[in-house]
Amino acid sequence: MLSKITGKIVSNIVGGVQQRPISCVGKCVPNRSADVFERTIKNSPIKEIKGIPVEIVGDVSQDFIKKISKQIDNFPQRWLDLFKENDYKIVLSKNITDAYKAKGVHSSIVEQTEKRNPQGTLGITYNNIQNRLFNFFCFCDKPPLSDIYMQNIVNHEFGHGLCNIKKLDSDLNFRQALIDDLGEIQTQKKLDSLSESERKLVSHYFFNKKAYLPVDEIIADLFAWQQKGGGCYGTTLILDKENKNLMPYLFPNLNEAISNL
Ligand SMILES: [Zn+2]
Repeated sequence: MLSKITGKIVSNIVGGVQQRPISCVGKCVPNRSADVFERTIKNSPIKEIKGIPVEIVGDVSQDFIKKISKQIDNFPQRWLDLFKENDYKIVLSKNITDAYKAKGVHSSIVEQTEKRNPQGTLGITYNNIQNRLFNFFCFCDKPPLSDIYMQNIVNHEFGHGLCNIKKLDSDLNFRQALIDDLGEIQTQKKLDSLSESERKLVSHYFFNKKAYLPVDEIIADLFAWQQKGGGCYGTTLILDKENKNLMPYLFPNLNEAISNL
């Protein structure tokens, strides 16, 4: 089953027609087309974090703003500069649907996903390649979010920002690194060496129903695990601090490519 899936993925990547994921449980929807509506953004108590414009949508707590600011403050400046140069904004909201509406972006996929899984939609990275005005990260003030959990989500979403800006999921060197990693995984030895719980953590990448590889999620997760505080696993935002080496173990070449950026 696995070799069938990875075999298809490898041939798709080689053929240059790899299918993009539609969404990841509503968390990240990169490169979606957008309809423009009137912007209705409330006055924000803060205007920017490290030079990146911040927009507050709806009733977001001061505590949440403070915690997100602190996390972003500690992020490596070179990535923050990159986001700034590429007109990314930070949107803080009660939920993703409201943030989208306030940004003048309509996505029924996001609305439906958030309805289905209200507590699971905590962050999103939006990137419209036709219109860079809509580049934004959105973080949601939804309990229960511990500080460390917030950090993981910020790290993961910033990974998507980097992936979008540098188009890493279609970069030939990154594809080659991924093909090398998948070749190794296809021998089964690596997956066989994983424990049941580790297999569960990475199941999203290999055993999703649509049988495509969510390349941008893998890149975002590898990037996040390279940051202070670490990342999570796939769309379900599974946290497991004991398994911080799992992603670099499965994707060593891709991990190195990201760390060399
Ligand atoms: Zn994601």
